Order: sequence, then C-alpha cells, then structure tokens
Amino acid sequence: MYTLPPLQYSYDALGKYISKDIMELHHTKHHQTYVDKLNAVLDTTPELQDRSLESLLSNLDGLPEAVRTAIHNHGGGHYNHSLFWQWMSPDGGGEPTGQLATNIVEKYGSFQAFVDEFTTKSLGVFGSGWVWLQPDLSIVTTPNQDTPISHGLDSPLLGLDVWEHAYYLDYKNKRDDYVKAWWNVVNWDFVASRAKSPEQ
Ligand code: MN
Repeated sequence: MYTLPPLQYSYDALGKYISKDIMELHHTKHHQTYVDKLNAVLDTTPELQDRSLESLLSNLDGLPEAVRTAIHNHGGGHYNHSLFWQWMSPDGGGEPTGQLATNIVEKYGSFQAFVDEFTTKSLGVFGSGWVWLQPDLSIVTTPNQDTPISHGLDSPLLGLDVWEHAYYLDYKNKRDDYVKAWWNVVNWDFVASRAKSPEQ
C-alpha cells in the first residue's frame, strides 16, 4: 500500500510564491487521489504488489493491459509529486553551487540561460504536464503524469508541475507568473543530491 508522503515544511511555508491553499489542495487532494487510485489498481493485481513503483513505471509495456493506463497515470502521479514536494523549500531559490552549477554553466552558457530555456519549455507544454531537468542536463517535457523513467530515461534531477491545479488558485491562467515565482523556492540542495558525478 502506498501512502501520501508528508511535506518537509508547512503548507504555508512557500506562501509568498505558492499559497497555503494551493499546497494543501495539491497535496491532500490531488496527490492523495493518485495514491488512492494506484492502491486501488494494485488491489486487482496482486502479482504486481511486490514490484517497486520505479520498476512498474519503467516497464509499462510489460504490465497487463487492463491496468497499464491506470498505473501510468496514478503511479506516475504519485512518483512525480513525491519528488515535486522535495524540489521545493522555504529555504530554496537562488542558484545551485558546486559541480552542478559548473555543469549547468558549461552546457547552457549561464545559469540564467538555463532558467530561460527551462521556463520557455514549461510555457510550451500544451495542457497538463511536466518539465524535467535530466541527469545529462537536457530539458524534456512530458504530458499528463507521464514520467521520464517510463521512456528509458533516468530519474530527473528536477521537475516542475505545470498542471493548472498547481497554480490556478494563485495565478489563474498565468503560468508564466507561476513559473517565475517557482524559481524562488527551488531546493537546489536536493537537486544536487540527485546529480550523478560526471564520471557516471
Ligand atoms: Mn500536480
């Protein structure tokens, strides 16, 4: 049985950029629903219950057709959101440091150029989806609750939820304002902890 992971900060901790109302609704309703529906589908498939979520999402084609879409959507939703909460912090924002900063500047020319490209891609997602920074520092997008590990890619270093449920209460239809605010809460320490060393 999957459970909703607690936030490492209070619902109002990001309030200047993302309101308590959004954080509480997003966590206790949207994410909880992905957890509940993932558990419901696994109830019907005991043979999958010992598999890790990563294993299920990395091998969607090998899953029974009857449950494949539900695991893709709700398993992906649980996986993506479990990371998303950790990618934000009331102590976040600013710029990365260390090897991650060096590697980003090497690839994009500057940290700001990276932010600009990530932002542009986030605004280019049609409808609901996510934007990801991958360990090779490429920026990719996925629709709905699709996740990079379902496409043979590594687990992302960083991701941004651009579903309207992530920002509508605060920013209405203005996704650009939400993305601009979000950079102020990015937990670069957590991002760096997920980065592989350059040798790998
Ligand atoms: Mn969401």
